[in-house]
Amino acid sequence: MVHTDKEMKMNSRIKNFHSLTMNERKKIIAQKLGMSLKEIDDALGCKKLNTCALDKMIENVIGIWHLPYAVCPNFLINNKDYLVPMVGYEPSVVAAASKAAKIIREHGGFKAKADPPIMIAQVILYDVAKPNKAKKIVSENKNQIIKQGNRALPNLIKRGGGIKNITVVDYPAGTGYLAIELEIDVCDAMGANIVNTIAEYASPTIADLTKEKILMCILTNYAVKRKATSEFSIPVCQLSTKKISSEEFAKRIVSASRFAGLDAKRACTQNKGGFNGMDAVAMALGIDCQALEAAGHCYATSSGYGPLCKFQVRDDILFGKIELPIAAGIVGGISQTHPGVKFSLKLLRVESAKELAMVIASAGLASTTAALGALVTEGIQRSHMKLHFRKKL
Ligand code: NAD
Repeated sequence: MVHTDKEMKMNSRIKNFHSLTMNERKKIIAQKLGMSLKEIDDALGCKKLNTCALDKMIENVIGIWHLPYAVCPNFLINNKDYLVPMVGYEPSVVAAASKAAKIIREHGGFKAKADPPIMIAQVILYDVAKPNKAKKIVSENKNQIIKQGNRALPNLIKRGGGIKNITVVDYPAGTGYLAIELEIDVCDAMGANIVNTIAEYASPTIADLTKEKILMCILTNYAVKRKATSEFSIPVCQLSTKKISSEEFAKRIVSASRFAGLDAKRACTQNKGGFNGMDAVAMALGIDCQALEAAGHCYATSSGYGPLCKFQVRDDILFGKIELPIAAGIVGGISQTHPGVKFSLKLLRVESAKELAMVIASAGLASTTAALGALVTEGIQRSHMKLHFRKKL
């Protein structure tokens, strides 16, 4: 791609975003998106959020709570450049993620993948006297259940979504539970409401067929069929630090990663470091952060609570990788009504929920890598204090 002088100048200023004033940054983003400064102020201020819209978003509203909105440059994911929006109140999160993303981009950037957007609804039966019989009935009548559930949202079916599979999970004898799991393609949505609607539509058919009682129909936030991964690789010799050798630095990162695999207390904090970045992106995009965290922590328990990001050295190359379920959408929720979220989607230029999941995973990997890098060298306090103004307090 050929860049004009003006574009090259702009790109180099974006890479050094932290050294600009707030107004300078805003001007660059406005120029990049072809927007006026007023349009950005309108999107990120509260003027366009009228009281009526706010009152519908949650209950008992009396005002607006403000948080800073930042842009994290330097993210190169699958060879595409991203300006990643982040919202939050914790100092250093944006600086740390930017710093790690900058180093990673110099070595080819993040390589990310995401599964198709399959969410799972649980239709839970209770007091089931003959689970095997109920299980057999559900298996033999899958098509009828799928047909009935899919009637709930004809537009989703037109987009290629809907129930794709049904499985039945049983529990220890005597407990009386059976869960009918509907695997639903939610296309570009997060999908919680979609999935709940379809499950409620399908459940009377399940009750009729099995002659059993339904306890509840609800999505599981453990979106285990919807995993995203992001990884990077950097030659160890390129890892420069002031006080220790690059080999020692890589060794300490890997050692810290191994320790998190052995110690849940450490793993919990390492994962929190990853969610610093992921939640900040999720907030800027109006994504359900609680769902994101619930799924991530549940995934971390797959074999005893462990770290979501892992690091290793092979053939003198440091590899970092994150893997977790990410249920995030570019439609639905507040994405079409909140001006700030609309602005974030324009800034991020993601075209699908899958692409968004890859960006969120990469933000998690960047945040974790930066935190580990600081921890195994100068320590988190000294490193973070350099990055924010609270040291003056
Ligand atoms: P939603 O209810 O807004 O539904 C998505 C809408 O987008 C549907 O009407 C669908 O027809 C439409 N749509 C348009 N284009 C689409 C496309 N390309 N792909 C898919 N749908 C398309 O949102 P949702 O995603 O079903 O649910 C997300 C919301 O539900 C979030 O705000 C979340 O906080 C909330 N929620 C979460 C939980 C939970 O346990 N995590 C539970 C209930 C609700």
